[in-house]
Amino acid sequence: MSRIYWYQGRFLADNEVRISPEDRGYYFGDGVYEVFRVYGGRLFEAEAHLARLRRSAAGVRLPLPHADEEWLRNLNELVRLNSLQEGTVYLQITRGTAPRNHLFPPQAEPVVMAYCTDVKRPLSAMEAGYAAITLPDTRWLHCDYKTLNLLANVLAKQAAADRGAADAILHRDGTVTESSASNVMIVKDGRLVTHPANHLILHGVTRAVVLRLAAQTEIPAEERPFALEELFAADEVLLTGTTIEVMPVISVDGKPIGSGRPGPITRRLQREFEDLISS
Ligand code: PLP
Repeated sequence: MSRIYWYQGRFLADNEVRISPEDRGYYFGDGVYEVFRVYGGRLFEAEAHLARLRRSAAGVRLPLPHADEEWLRNLNELVRLNSLQEGTVYLQITRGTAPRNHLFPPQAEPVVMAYCTDVKRPLSAMEAGYAAITLPDTRWLHCDYKTLNLLANVLAKQAAADRGAADAILHRDGTVTESSASNVMIVKDGRLVTHPANHLILHGVTRAVVLRLAAQTEIPAEERPFALEELFAADEVLLTGTTIEVMPVISVDGKPIGSGRPGPITRRLQREFEDLISS
């Protein structure tokens, strides 16, 4: 069955969607996006994603064409039309279509496109854990905006795959920021540590959920920068993200983390997360 897109306010079959070659997303990566998780046919943490969308759009001076209720109504309809029970919704807004020129086009209307993907939860990877590598974080200084400019992330993820790893953990001058597509947390002596939500990382929706679950289960958590040395000396390392949920990291650059198996705090957070999404 072909998938139904939401494109410029209409629900269309994939062969009816026409993206212009002059779309600024195509030329400049000039746009913002969100990826929502769908569990049991419902958008998970939709308000948090929409709040971040507003923040990203304001950060790159892109006027959003819809209010939160309209995003919600249409994305819910998209999920319904695609009969999606478990998967993701990808939503992208570019600054519009205009002849190539760096300056904002005065007349262009934002181009909005969304679609669903029937992607399952990565249960076996969540059980086994990831191997990761480390790489310098070569991105710009507004990693808090979820923009289409993902080339540095793409290169990092590919470098990880080229070395047989699932992801790349990034660092700026030895300070761990996040991974190519998720937030990074370490556990040391029972305490969870993660980079502060500033301009150097994406303010992950899953990160916030996991910090909330940690607070509820009385796992002490600190938001502070930590060094690569702390990453390697951690008892546990975990990644958080919309599609990977709470993902254990069992080795970094070929060195085992802790016992080399997913640790007890990671397992506890996975159970709490599971309870939350099935409630
Ligand atoms: N950091 C980066 C660079 C990401 O691309 C993502 C998600 O795509 C995350 C963190 C995790 O954010 P979220 O939990 O909202 O998916």
